[in-house]
Amino acid sequence: MAFEGLADRLQSTISKIRGKGKVNEQDVKEMMREVRLALLEADVNFKVVKDFVKRVSERAVGQEVMQSLTPGQQVIKVVKEELTALMGGEQSKIAVAKKPPTVIMMVGLQGAGKTTTTGKLANLLRKKHNRKPMLVAADIYRPAAIKQLETLGKQLDMPVFSLGDQVSPVEIAKKAIEKAKEEHHDYVLIDTAGRLHIDETLMGELQQVKDISQPDEIFLVVDAMTGQDAVNVAQSFNEQLGLTGVVLTKLDGDTRGGAALSIRSVTETPIKFVGLGEKLDALEAFHPERMASRILGMGDVLSLIEKAQSNVDADKAKELEQKMRTASFTFDDFLEQLGQVRNMGPLDELLNMLPGANKMKGLKNVQVDEKQISHVEAIIQSMNKEEKEHPEVINASRRKRIARGSGTSVQEVNRLLKQFEDMKKMMKQMTNMSKGKKKGGMKF
Ligand code: GDP
Repeated sequence: MAFEGLADRLQSTISKIRGKGKVNEQDVKEMMREVRLALLEADVNFKVVKDFVKRVSERAVGQEVMQSLTPGQQVIKVVKEELTALMGGEQSKIAVAKKPPTVIMMVGLQGAGKTTTTGKLANLLRKKHNRKPMLVAADIYRPAAIKQLETLGKQLDMPVFSLGDQVSPVEIAKKAIEKAKEEHHDYVLIDTAGRLHIDETLMGELQQVKDISQPDEIFLVVDAMTGQDAVNVAQSFNEQLGLTGVVLTKLDGDTRGGAALSIRSVTETPIKFVGLGEKLDALEAFHPERMASRILGMGDVLSLIEKAQSNVDADKAKELEQKMRTASFTFDDFLEQLGQVRNMGPLDELLNMLPGANKMKGLKNVQVDEKQISHVEAIIQSMNKEEKEHPEVINASRRKRIARGSGTSVQEVNRLLKQFEDMKKMMKQMTNMSKGKKKGGMKF
């Protein structure tokens, strides 16, 4: 997970101060020395670290903390607020042009994930905001870029405007916007050319595309894995083009997090989205406060709830609750549940959103084995209707057949049957408990 080292260090540092009934300057000094090291090790820009430490220290030895009843907690609150401010404070929104279409220019170095992000962003605009975007292939230099965008367009069932690679990007942008107006697209996403390094020709050309298309947003796509380089790239692009936002990609990787924590301060440009995988739905709005919570081990329950809400069908959830209450939960229900949870994204990522998850011994370093879940699915799919509804009929020979059919072993089938049985028992107990208590019973 991204930020792992930083999160671990910051959490162990602040845990020392958490329960303190009194905090003196020396305590704060010691804590801030560790915070400083943790940030530097996470590859956060030196100057950013210095300013951050100064701000937190000033506030932490100030009245708001020293005179509070829970000084330890108060210091942590200060750290969280400053960390949030560092990443941009409020979540910033995406522009909407007064007169459509809203034009978004996507810029960035080759390999940063620009073309993929263009597709992801179009997908998000349509899915979340019901918009009708058009994609524009204006990267005429990288031979595969146009084809790549066209493929993304096909996958998304979304129009891609292209004039091949013999027409200038400026001309392409101009014609694309005209076409978008004619066809009533409300968003135009221009995938511009990237280079391996920043050079004058590239910037000159991007400037021309900017002049002709008058974009409402210019998003720079940068790779979080490149750390301080990402910050330098952002600074150059911003100086020459005037960015309105940054999309930080590959945050699903093992990045130390330095770029996410430095970009805003160094460039004054907010991070608007983060890329969390190669798939087209792996793009999320960036929420500084939630990210700060995650880094400090306070979890990100809001994102978890949002994920659940957008992926779980409310009627189905009700039906399921009913089934759990009456203990008539079958293997088919179980399979459906698995599917819904899987739709929410990789399981270890979900676990990381739980408060204190990376402090829990059992969960620490847990590698959620997606393969094992596929095995569970295969086993259930190899059962017939009767078996799914009445697992008690599954005798030894049926177990063998199910194992063979699912490409698993009898032991695995046994384990699943046992787990399922235990789960049903637990549901029964919980239902009985809640029946016993009229008020304040357990609800699940
Ligand atoms: P471009 O040259 O900037 O247009 O880069 P591409 O869009 O072709 O992306 C380069 C590679 O990065 C591709 O293999 C993408 O699948 C991958 N990629 C893009 N965004 C992400 C991300 O958020 N996470 C991961 N893991 N891979 C990404």
